[in-house]
Amino acid sequence: MIVEYQRPKTIDEALRLLSRAEPLTLPLGGGTALNRWAQAESQAVAVIDLQALGLNKIEMRGSNLHLGAVVTLQDLLDHPGLPAMLYEAVRLEATHNLRQAATLAGTLASADGRSPLTTVMLALDATLTIRKASGTEKIGLGSWLPLRRAGAGGGLITEIVLTAAGAVKLSYEYVARTPADRPIVCAAVAQWPAGRTRLALGGWGTAPLLAMDGPEPGGVEAAAHNAYSQAGDQWASAEYRAAMAVTLAKRCQG
Ligand SMILES: Cc1cc2nc3c(=O)[nH]c(=O)nc-3n(C[C@H](O)[C@H](O)[C@H](O)COP(=O)(O)OP(=O)(O)OC[C@H]3O[C@@H](n4cnc5c(N)ncnc54)[C@H](O)[C@@H]3O)c2cc1C
Repeated sequence: MIVEYQRPKTIDEALRLLSRAEPLTLPLGGGTALNRWAQAESQAVAVIDLQALGLNKIEMRGSNLHLGAVVTLQDLLDHPGLPAMLYEAVRLEATHNLRQAATLAGTLASADGRSPLTTVMLALDATLTIRKASGTEKIGLGSWLPLRRAGAGGGLITEIVLTAAGAVKLSYEYVARTPADRPIVCAAVAQWPAGRTRLALGGWGTAPLLAMDGPEPGGVEAAAHNAYSQAGDQWASAEYRAAMAVTLAKRCQG
């Protein structure tokens, strides 16, 4: 149950509030996931609205794309010049109404393995800037996803950076019950001009998986198979997911 709402004007003030021991105090992005969760909770929750902190900018600095934490999914769709498949992943992530409120950081923080946008961001080797009372940390999305904490103390994501965003070739392929549904298996491949190739898989588990980060494109199929060889659940067997991951990874490479 939400018992307190604060809208600080500075990041320092937000960090001060977020570092309180009680009540449980959490960052509020668009609130689309947090509200539903808090309503179902019996414990008291305070929320820190991030909208007055100026974290809503999308900027190209050199070849790097800097995305503020509270950029909404619709802001991303409306911004020209992003990798084409990033737009597709945003469309598949959330409906039109949800996209108006849902923020990029909130989406990454609450994503499960079936999130198209998180899968694509993982392939693109997104780096998060996280502010805590103790200092600032930059961490790759792949390292951060297993460390995410639902409770307080996880820090405040202020920015997401994609390096050489304009030069990267990004592909995304998926299998789902319907074209608009969340994936049962999905693959995203990012290829840098010098040959570096990253394969991320989604559709299963608590977060998308990085299956490969290599200096050249070779080995994508074996990496896809290995990464999803145990990926069974109520939606699909591990054998099916491993085989589809290989097919989708191959399609991504054209
Ligand atoms: C009708 C409906 C259907 C939905 N369907 C799906 C679905 O199919 N699949 C799915 O994955 N989700 C679904 N969601 C959940 C939700 O819409 C998305 O996960 C959304 O993208 C979350 O973004 P947000 O900005 O609203 O996050 P919020 O709800 O504001 O926050 C989500 C989490 O992220 C944390 N957070 C937010 N911003 C930051 C930050 N800057 N730094 C650190 N932590 C932060 C919050 O504290 C919270 O724990 C649905 C929601 C609704 C209302």
